[in-house]
Amino acid sequence: MPSENPAKKDSYPLVCYACGALNRVPQGAALSDGKCGKCSKPLATRKPIDIDSAIFERLLTHDKGRYVIDIWAPWCGPCRMMAPSYEQAAEALADHIRLFKLNSDTHQDVSARLGIRGIPTLIAYQGGREIAKQAGAQTGDGLMQWIRAALKP
Ligand SMILES: [Zn+2]
Repeated sequence: MPSENPAKKDSYPLVCYACGALNRVPQGAALSDGKCGKCSKPLATRKPIDIDSAIFERLLTHDKGRYVIDIWAPWCGPCRMMAPSYEQAAEALADHIRLFKLNSDTHQDVSARLGIRGIPTLIAYQGGREIAKQAGAQTGDGLMQWIRAALKP
């Protein structure tokens, strides 16, 4: 038999939010069960994860998984209004979709690059591509439905 690694075909690269290392994850595997091969942090958590522009750059360049980023700022009322719903969504979706937050005050380079005009802005990514983008706060079921509709399995 020719030597072939079938696992490789059915896996995809996922960037660790903590150290930026690339991990290969089997399709359909629960992310919250996996750990980073480099830093041993879980691949996903049940809470939104704050990331910086360096990690976001790694995600945009290398990550083929499903994730959402919330561009927000501490002074923004609608951002704070959406935060509890975003936390609930992270809790519910952690096995397959990672929810990130990026502070637009401390990482203005990212806001400029993405052409963010108002916050909060949510952007959903899958397979290395931007799938959906939404400006303005969403809460409760509306937020969950938006994420599920954007990032189908
Ligand atoms: Zn890591």
